Amino acid sequence: MTLRIGAHLSISGGLLNAIKSIKDKGGNCLQIFSSSPRTWSKSTISRNDITTFLDAKKTSGVDPIFFHALYLINLADPDQTGKKSVEALIHELSLAPQLDVLGSIVHTGSFKNDNKTLSCRDKKNYKTLLTNINSVLENTPGESLLILENAGNRKIGQTIDQLCEIIQDVNNPRIRVCLDTCHLHAAEYDLRSKQNYKRFLDEFDTKIGLDRLEVVHMNDSKDKLGDLRDRHENIGEGYVGVEVFTNFLNDPRTKMIPFIIETPGFDKQGPDKKNLDLLKGFVRE
Ligand SMILES: [Zn+2]
Repeated sequence: MTLRIGAHLSISGGLLNAIKSIKDKGGNCLQIFSSSPRTWSKSTISRNDITTFLDAKKTSGVDPIFFHALYLINLADPDQTGKKSVEALIHELSLAPQLDVLGSIVHTGSFKNDNKTLSCRDKKNYKTLLTNINSVLENTPGESLLILENAGNRKIGQTIDQLCEIIQDVNNPRIRVCLDTCHLHAAEYDLRSKQNYKRFLDEFDTKIGLDRLEVVHMNDSKDKLGDLRDRHENIGEGYVGVEVFTNFLNDPRTKMIPFIIETPGFDKQGPDKKNLDLLKGFVRE
């Protein structure tokens, strides 16, 4: 079976264009926004566009395809933002199966200044978070996945323990995890040595289960280990260390997971062929 390596690409030229573009860059899986990520506006896609997209997906072999949810989402917000977040995710997870998209990758949100301990269960708005997640799941098709991305910047999901708490308390098989190498690095997970990598995967498997690991974002970082910032850098140009990418791409427990880049691009035009080629170069036969 071939590895799945792809990129987050723009749909500004249309959904079809994103499929064509990932093929041109040499990728075979894809992440897209369903609408502009910085506004609450919802996408409307015609019957006709859905049919052409499904045809193109099938012919091209690009699979899987993920949505990345809006940046505005905060599922732990008790007010309007929380409500809008639920609505936006219901819309997106309902659209996903129509386009043969697996689900949405979400930055869960933030407990704002409630930062005394790292445990989610101690936070005032934790109940809100669980209610909102359940409401999204109850109102969307059973095959759509809600994929929580780990955070690197004091937001929800900064540690494996936080993700573990949410996953245990929601207790629904449709909740999955996206790990981002830049965010892991920001949260001080140093996965460069084989030994640390193995220990980390063991911890993930014990607490969450590797069957929940749906996708990995492969990004380098502009910042140092543990800096709690999530500024992405091109592969090999930042502080993450190419050993981390090599570990993910060659470990029998992770190498069949889809890998998606969200790098700035060597010509600053977004994820490019060069970044994908660099990753492919780390794959041992
Ligand atoms: Zn990411």
